[in-house]
Amino acid sequence: MALAHLTGDPILLDMSVEQTPLRGGAFLSAQLDPVHHEQVRRRAIELAPGFAENTGAARGDAELRAMMTAFLGRPLTDGEFRLGREQLCVDDFPRAAHWSAGRPAGADDLGVVIIGAGPSGIATAVQLERLGLRYTILERQHAVGGTWLLNRYPDARVDVNSFQYQFTFEKNYPWPDYFASAADVRAYLEHVADRHGVSARIRFGVELTRASWDERSRTWHLEVTGAGGDGDGTGGPASVEHIETQVVVSGAGMFSTPKFPDIPGIETFQGRHFHTTQWDDSWDPAGQRIAVIGNGSTGVQLMPRLAEAAERLYQFQRTPQWISPMEGYKEPISADDRALLDGIPFYWNWFCLKNWAIGMSMEAAQTVDPDWVARGGQVSERNDGLRATLTEIIRQKLGHDPELFARCVPDYAPLARRLVVDNGYYDAILRENVELVTDGIVAIDETGITTADGTHREVDAIVYAAGFQVTKYLYPTEYVGVGGITQEKAWEEDGPRAYLGITMPSFPNLFMLYGPNSQPRSGSFINAIENWARYVAQMIALMAERGIRSVEIRPEVCAAYNKRLDDESEQIIWLTEAARTRGRNYYVSEQGRQVANVPWALPEFYGMLAEPRLDDYLLTW
Ligand code: NAP
Repeated sequence: MALAHLTGDPILLDMSVEQTPLRGGAFLSAQLDPVHHEQVRRRAIELAPGFAENTGAARGDAELRAMMTAFLGRPLTDGEFRLGREQLCVDDFPRAAHWSAGRPAGADDLGVVIIGAGPSGIATAVQLERLGLRYTILERQHAVGGTWLLNRYPDARVDVNSFQYQFTFEKNYPWPDYFASAADVRAYLEHVADRHGVSARIRFGVELTRASWDERSRTWHLEVTGAGGDGDGTGGPASVEHIETQVVVSGAGMFSTPKFPDIPGIETFQGRHFHTTQWDDSWDPAGQRIAVIGNGSTGVQLMPRLAEAAERLYQFQRTPQWISPMEGYKEPISADDRALLDGIPFYWNWFCLKNWAIGMSMEAAQTVDPDWVARGGQVSERNDGLRATLTEIIRQKLGHDPELFARCVPDYAPLARRLVVDNGYYDAILRENVELVTDGIVAIDETGITTADGTHREVDAIVYAAGFQVTKYLYPTEYVGVGGITQEKAWEEDGPRAYLGITMPSFPNLFMLYGPNSQPRSGSFINAIENWARYVAQMIALMAERGIRSVEIRPEVCAAYNKRLDDESEQIIWLTEAARTRGRNYYVSEQGRQVANVPWALPEFYGMLAEPRLDDYLLTW
């Protein structure tokens, strides 16, 4: 398709494409029919001498749509085309917030404070920088990266392909690996912050502790604690500063508050112990007896590497996970792929789109197919296909030990919880120095961990890979909105809710990135952030253009949105399978409500975020 893009040659668009099922059909990959391969090779060789000079003609929407249709082997809805066009990254800044008619004078009066210099804070800042708006980022750590700064545990890396885990405005970033390591993601975020002029606007080592809305001035009053006299916690007592700002954008994220397991005696343990987000860099795991509690994405990712160093490693598993291997995981980008990405115009664009389209195809495996179930299936043909494929992978690895195999096969459908990705977990379980412990933990004492069968395992260190308190969205900041209502109070009765996952009644001019029900069904977190950041920046731009002092989501709009969201969630396996994972799946709250994800298909949800509708809001001037 890169050649078609470059040349406009219609023959290339007439070639047939096959839908190749991956992982039992849960994913589909559109691939060029092999009968055309030779012809494409010949054409590429013919054109190759001109690749360096040829930047190709700009293609209009009709041409791009025809190309995407041919590429994916199926017609696209308007929403899919709009989204796919952005993912193709043919524009300089595909998701830019914009002024209607140039930067207005009112833009000088509007100030924004962004909380957090993680991916959300940086993405918002890039938008505001482009609009020429005044903003400051407050970051409690001492470097950019957010979750990628905190998660420094062994082998921390993205489990979504790097070519999805990037902003659409950064072209052909030289990722070293197909699935970037935490250090590489941090370097990427630093690069973006530097290149777009954001770094200079970050204040490090300061934490927002309280934010209260002042009705009279229609501004937020922020209470900000400094880490110490010189900003790094070493130069004296913490200072408190008061800042007044019109708009607050919280990029605090969903995974910023660690969860420790609620186990009796946990505080008595005398050895090393820490949550995975508080990794102790001074700790050498070599020769140690180590307990890892938790086998979610984090535990599964770090355990194999720790096991290589440990004398003995106990992997505590309360619930088995569905774990999928991934092609190219932990592998550097091949020289061939790098040559294609760098050498053929538009190859990178279509490579990115392909990765995105494969990810999006997974959404179909998340819903229950009643006909399939009536015919004796469990969820749907594609979900059951994934289950069979992943079960077979466990069988191949552990099938020689039926008891171990049985302990590792989940009793709930794949995708009911987040699919865990790893290529080495089951091999690590089989190591002589590793024991998979599935008896429940009843206590921790000074020297180790006791399970329900009465066994006490002595350990030198405990690693808590127990996840996050995902419903504590803005924690530890206390937000106080209209009439003195706290955010905690606003969510007390019904749990966390927001409009589009971004904003909530009684909290004007406050926008959350990665708020309640904002995690999309597929695609990468970075793409989601871009969509949220555009929405928020566009809203701020509208405020500046029209002289709007405050925007507050109308309670009835927020309530109706949440009703639709809850109704739609009923169709998806997060809820249909919730009974099987009750209290053990962060997608669903203890009250049984799905609180983390967006139930709509990606094009539909991102369509809702494309442009703010002022009619949804109470406005003051
Ligand atoms: P998680 O998915 O919530 O998993 C927490 C683990 O701790 C589960 O195995 C859980 O067991 C266990 N646990 C919690 N309390 C326990 C207790 N009292 N006793 C025994 N076990 C207990 O957390 P996570 O692994 O940190 O992942 C969270 C999210 O972060 C992921 O879903 C993903 O979105 C993101 N993440 C992404 C990547 C990546 O991109 N590579 C890597 C890591 C994390 P139960 O299952 O029984 O509750």
